[in-house]
Amino acid sequence: MSHTAPSARLATTALVVGLALLGWPGVTSADYKMIQNTSTGRLTSGAQVECNAPAGFAHWNTRDVSWRHNTANQGAGKKTALENAMASWTNVTNATYQLNYDGTTSAGFGTDGINTVLWGNTGSLPDCGSCLALTALVLQSGQVIVESDVIFTNELTWTTNGSDYDTESVAAHELGHSLGIHHPSMAGGPETMSNPYFGIGMRSLHPNDNAALQCSENRYPAVCSGNPPPRPLTLSVINQYCWGYNLVSWSASTCPVTRYEVWGSTSMSFTNPFLIYSGSATSTTMQVTQSQIQVYVWVRACYNSLCGHYRGLGIAQYYAGCCVTPPC
Ligand SMILES: [Zn+2]
Repeated sequence: MSHTAPSARLATTALVVGLALLGWPGVTSADYKMIQNTSTGRLTSGAQVECNAPAGFAHWNTRDVSWRHNTANQGAGKKTALENAMASWTNVTNATYQLNYDGTTSAGFGTDGINTVLWGNTGSLPDCGSCLALTALVLQSGQVIVESDVIFTNELTWTTNGSDYDTESVAAHELGHSLGIHHPSMAGGPETMSNPYFGIGMRSLHPNDNAALQCSENRYPAVCSGNPPPRPLTLSVINQYCWGYNLVSWSASTCPVTRYEVWGSTSMSFTNPFLIYSGSATSTTMQVTQSQIQVYVWVRACYNSLCGHYRGLGIAQYYAGCCVTPPC
């Protein structure tokens, strides 16, 4: 999962643009590939295989994948770019992966149980050469991913303003690798998992990128035992426009749960959260007081002490009296 040397790639920019005008010949609606490597341990390379390859491909058992951010070197100021790249994969429909930005770390590019994004020297790393960035997977038997790290080379300038090299774009590409997705068969295509490396086009996933994750989701359903239940796919808060009465509902987790928890906060940043509901139902009602004005709402699924990540963000509101024709 290494990237082409920047100097070589720069030399082919004009050619890549020319191909774009031809409508990307050879790219089909199923042009995505998965990473296959049946060895165990830490690896940074793998075969390009179809999603239905008999020997399978690298995948997670859990759906909650939390990432830590090492802000050393050029890592400073990249939080939003990383969060956006994670959200692109989290937001893929018909897939339940949840990539979470879980704060900062001093961890490096090594097997330590922490999924780390960092900036550093990549020249001596295997499978990198003069790559832009490199993703490592740690595999257990059965090609189960249990850890991933992404390193961006410190030898180039990384930006968040859209100029090269765009952190969010390349992060989205590398996070795709972290989910077991390889490059499509055709280089320089429109997919995030292709490898244009320039501009901001890779920030937005292509339908082929979505299809890759959806295919992984279907072939390797979440393993529930021992993992937190995936967060509910949807959360809805319907303002009833009557004395702060709100209806909160969510979809069932795809794994068994012992309870759902609905939490609220008067702050969008989830400070001083308070428990609104805990139970096995997938809906509840809540009352917003006049002093609260409005309450931000999140829901998560738990299996005993194992709780998944939150699905947000609904907004429950207070209305004085009853409003017949909102907004009032
Ligand atoms: Zn790549």
